[in-house]
Amino acid sequence: MSSEVISNVVARYRLAKGLALLPEFKKALEYYVATGGSDLMRAFIKGVLNEILPNGSVAPWYYGLGTAKRNTVKFLSSEGQSLLNSLSPTQIIHDEAKWRSYMVMRLEKWGNKLRTLEVASEASDEERVISVYGWKVIPMPGLTKAKVSGAIEALEQATNKLRESFPQVIYGDVYLATHLQRGKAAWYVPSEDKFYLDVNAKKRFSDIYTITHELGHRWDSKFFKNKDLRTRFWELSTRKEYETIQFDPTLRETVALEVLRAVRARKDGKSVPQLSREATIWISTRYTPGGVKRLSSAYLAGTLSDAEFIKELMGTEDFKVPTDVLLHGPIAVTPYGGTKPSENLAEAFAHYVLGMDLDPELKSILDAAK
Ligand SMILES: [Zn+2]
Repeated sequence: MSSEVISNVVARYRLAKGLALLPEFKKALEYYVATGGSDLMRAFIKGVLNEILPNGSVAPWYYGLGTAKRNTVKFLSSEGQSLLNSLSPTQIIHDEAKWRSYMVMRLEKWGNKLRTLEVASEASDEERVISVYGWKVIPMPGLTKAKVSGAIEALEQATNKLRESFPQVIYGDVYLATHLQRGKAAWYVPSEDKFYLDVNAKKRFSDIYTITHELGHRWDSKFFKNKDLRTRFWELSTRKEYETIQFDPTLRETVALEVLRAVRARKDGKSVPQLSREATIWISTRYTPGGVKRLSSAYLAGTLSDAEFIKELMGTEDFKVPTDVLLHGPIAVTPYGGTKPSENLAEAFAHYVLGMDLDPELKSILDAAK
């Protein structure tokens, strides 16, 4: 993007005024203090609630705010609703003067937070929107020109890669924020189908990677519908595979002979050989603790021949015995992908789109689901 376009964008910020709430609030409060009439204040509060929850759900800029500001807006909304109820004329009031001074105190405390809303709601100013590469980029208030242009450059590069592989995710609003949450570089809000990039956060790889990762969440939530492929991806992301020992006739005979040698060694007063892992697993899973001992005693007493002892110990059936030896753990694209399958999917998506190394099985799922 040319520096001229960026300059125009920055110039437009300065023109955007956002809401001027404080003078109106002051007027409504003065009227309430002087007359006890709450009509003005109630209309004002309704206006504020409508700004925060324009269609019954929270305004999209809300998710572009940092934690502290989001909490302030939450307070404005919940306390605003509560003030509306308290100011309702159906309320029965016994001590009018006392009640009014209590309400004034609450209103002042609430009104002190309005500045945050004034600034945040500037983001909903249409003039701010920068349409580039199929996106509507919306810088949150307080961003510098350099940060905006850097983020747009990263968006351009991510878009070029996405066009080659998953063009369906290129659309809609991209909010650029100055701060989202500690340790969060970006987030995708499925209910809004919008994503938010913190231009100041430390990224695990780069802005391009972060943008692609978030769009991986969009692809997951909007486009990755094949049930079998999803199930397979989730299994590979979570399932551990353990070694299983197959006790076929050959192995059963081998372990039976081994046990026989140990019993003989004991009988002859020689040092008893250590049993192999397979033999130990076989006698501990196929016999109760006394079982082998009884067989050994019978053999030592001469009531069982070598052949009979082996036949008894071998049994007549094959068994598959799982062990606690881990063959491979869940396949995690990155350590972060290992925290949750949905994150693993976004990581796999980013690796795929950006041509980074990716486990072939995970890659084949994305190939098939494209
Ligand atoms: Zn994620």
